[in-house]
Amino acid sequence: MTLVLATRNRGKLAELSTILADAGLAEEVLDLDAVHIPDTRETGVTFQENALLKAREVAALTGLPAIADDSGLAVDVLGGAPGVFSARWCGRHGDDQANLDLLLAQLSDVPAEHRSARFLCAAVAVWPDGREAVEVGELRGVLTTSPRGDNGFGYDPIFEVQTPAGPRTTAELDAAGKHAISHRGRAFRALVARHLVPGDPTPI
Ligand code: IMP
Repeated sequence: MTLVLATRNRGKLAELSTILADAGLAEEVLDLDAVHIPDTRETGVTFQENALLKAREVAALTGLPAIADDSGLAVDVLGGAPGVFSARWCGRHGDDQANLDLLLAQLSDVPAEHRSARFLCAAVAVWPDGREAVEVGELRGVLTTSPRGDNGFGYDPIFEVQTPAGPRTTAELDAAGKHAISHRGRAFRALVARHLVPGDPTPI
């Protein structure tokens, strides 16, 4: 089966290709560069809407099943913000350091017991005949007051989870360790297990 992953994010491509390969799916995985499709404007106000916008456009333009996700950070004391604005919280798209610095400044007076947050991910598959599947994944944690760790991206250096080895930011986990517990890992494992049949582009 050939699948198109509707993303240009190299980190996501690597993670998703691994999940699909582990599940025995997708002998051939194409990305947006391979199929020469421009980025979709993320005009939705939920992760699910944005993921579906991307996958629908790619499935329609390629005639192939398309997989997409949209994800972000929801901080409880901020009523779920930055949410779908996670990648552009500082006012421009994709400046991870500025996004993180602004969030830390906004929360500077918020004590530890009120620094709970979640990473959320909506993973979707859209087939060219219009069928659609959606799964969501969540990872709960707390926000630290200063960054720790060099791995990952985005808000990973300030997102702390409990591990058997003690509290770690997701930037202190290696790729496999993060992937095993992450919102994206959970959403995509559910999507694969519940909706995709190995070797067959028909949804379950
Ligand atoms: P998108 O799903 O590519 O639109 O990413 C949204 C934004 O949410 C990213 O730019 C990050 O700021 C944040 N985000 C999503 N997932 C993660 C994660 O696993 N670690 C850290 N930040 C994340």
